[in-house]
Amino acid sequence: MFERDWREKEESLSQLIKKYPDVSPFVVIKTDVQRRGVVYTENALRKVDPERHITKIRSDYYDKEDLTPVSLLMRDGTTIFNEGVLVDTTREPYTVDVVDDKIMLVDEGRVIEEVFYWEKPDYYDKLTSGGVPMWQVVSARPQRLTIHPNQFCDFWKKPGQGCKFCVMAATYKAGDKPSLLSVSDITETIGEALREPGRNVCIFLTGGTLRGGAKFLDEEVDLYERILGEISKYFDGKKFPSQLISTAFSGEQLRRLYDNTGLATYTADIEVLNKDLFEWICPGKASEIGYEGWKERLYQAVDIFGPGNVNTGIVGGVEMAAPNGFKTEDEALSSSLAEAEDLASHGISVVSCVWRVLRGSVFFRQTVPSLEYYVRLSFGLDRIRRKYGISVDMDNYRRCGNHPDTDLARI
Ligand code: SF4
Repeated sequence: MFERDWREKEESLSQLIKKYPDVSPFVVIKTDVQRRGVVYTENALRKVDPERHITKIRSDYYDKEDLTPVSLLMRDGTTIFNEGVLVDTTREPYTVDVVDDKIMLVDEGRVIEEVFYWEKPDYYDKLTSGGVPMWQVVSARPQRLTIHPNQFCDFWKKPGQGCKFCVMAATYKAGDKPSLLSVSDITETIGEALREPGRNVCIFLTGGTLRGGAKFLDEEVDLYERILGEISKYFDGKKFPSQLISTAFSGEQLRRLYDNTGLATYTADIEVLNKDLFEWICPGKASEIGYEGWKERLYQAVDIFGPGNVNTGIVGGVEMAAPNGFKTEDEALSSSLAEAEDLASHGISVVSCVWRVLRGSVFFRQTVPSLEYYVRLSFGLDRIRRKYGISVDMDNYRRCGNHPDTDLARI
């Protein structure tokens, strides 16, 4: 099932922690767990308390209502994400077990690190006035509220146009959730969630592309404008800690969102830092906006939202997808970091997620790069941000927690 000799071909977790003393061991562990996934022992599952821990979630990539934990947290507050069904047939997942009454990450029988299950927020089991469970409307990380108003993506409506790593369409089709959430349910749930003191530092929105409207993407802009406009009322109409990840909007559309809502920061994910690979991996985005067009829209966003308030996400490692990706890790890394530096010179920060080969994606059964590749990528992106003096507070461990490279900003 797994490649028997993969450990002989790569440097191990402990070797890499020693080799890169400037990268927090927590970040290296988090990266490897996201890359390889986890399985829970029966004892670990007995530690789950559905009254206290988050077990149900409905989001763009994840729709589950069983009694397994949604994700994990480490001693220093570093978050580990385990969304979706990981299908890396190369390497075994970590085991989450109980050792000395503590929940521990274990690999090959060795205890690696203590972990904790995410605590459930107060609003989670309540209902909206229309009777919709609030957990189905707004999902929660330990420190932020997440809204996915559109849980499908127009690019998946045309054969071959969806991004090849993406499981939004598969998640949607496997469940019975609505594609568009009601704005009043969202507003009501956010209002209820904000009543809990000391928990949330940010409200985050993202969803699939909506191509329609008077101008291309106006439909998507209208939806976010309506939701953000309603939420802004909880903040006296002022800017509030918030982030939107959307399709790359035009300058005119971005200006509308900035002027009419309390949205504070903006992200449009370019996914992969290479024009040819962007066209292969993200054909919908490439045909409608194009690689250079995407970058140009990011530059316009910086003019409107200001430096440090705009970034772009990549699916780290997808640049090595077969058969068209880079053939060596050195080549992939130097090309990606050079392009990240070009974006940084325009005030755009690049933040990376670990590519998780998920069931339902076109890239199902591919192999992700080595752990060392991810450590070097995270370190390189952090160093570029420091060189260009770009703050990443908008997407750091407190606001997001999904990016090993932005976790390094706290050091
Ligand atoms: S734009 Fe690409 S990554 Fe985003 S939801 Fe659509 S297909 Fe998925």
